[in-house]
Amino acid sequence: MSYNIAVDGPAGAGKSTIAKQVAKKKGIIYVDTGAMYRAMALFMIREKVDPTNQEAIIAKCDEADVTLGQEDGQQVVFLNGENVNGLIRTEAVGNMASTISVIGKVRENLVAKQQKLAETTDLIMDGRDIGTCVLPNANLKIYLTASSEVRAKRRYDELVAKGQECDLAQIKADIEERDYRDMHREISPLKQADDAILVDTSYMTIDEVVAKILELAE
Ligand code: C5P
Repeated sequence: MSYNIAVDGPAGAGKSTIAKQVAKKKGIIYVDTGAMYRAMALFMIREKVDPTNQEAIIAKCDEADVTLGQEDGQQVVFLNGENVNGLIRTEAVGNMASTISVIGKVRENLVAKQQKLAETTDLIMDGRDIGTCVLPNANLKIYLTASSEVRAKRRYDELVAKGQECDLAQIKADIEERDYRDMHREISPLKQADDAILVDTSYMTIDEVVAKILELAE
């Protein structure tokens, strides 16, 4: 049986930063499921699909083959064979990912791939529905959160460091809108699993959060 840690939480809670470090310390693989929804979103943007037209998204999603690989210990996401890692970390792609992820057909396909991978691989997987839906029997479940002010400021600092122009108030509004959509959708909404441990990172350093999760894993 493989060893699985599930990490869920809203945008900007620090899931990927924390999960990457825990993976390294424990010698397991880090799987970012958001990247799969982002790759699917990139496909829809490229195809100029109207985000409000669910029928069109459903009709198109079989044309997008989203797969994961590992290169030098890093996750790589492929969209129809193309490495799209460098193209999916924008606010536009994130917002489109949140819009299309409400659709059952989009989720079914990606969830099946995530479950298959976890069956045979020791991993820490992050997303919105990992503890509640993808890995209900995970060895450890964490629900990572922080206030929307703190999360918006983190995302703002990240984008500024990358040289992208952005507006803090707009980022906070986008984060709150995305949280609302993720938490209120009909299929697999973002919520803390009954057996998940809540970790509020608002006033914790990255090292403190990593240490806490490693301690819980022991
Ligand atoms: O985590 P990240 O911000 O990259 O995810 C982008 C969007 O993909 C989320 O806002 C969410 O709507 C969707 N998502 C999801 N289920 C997951 C991971 C991401 O619905 N397991």
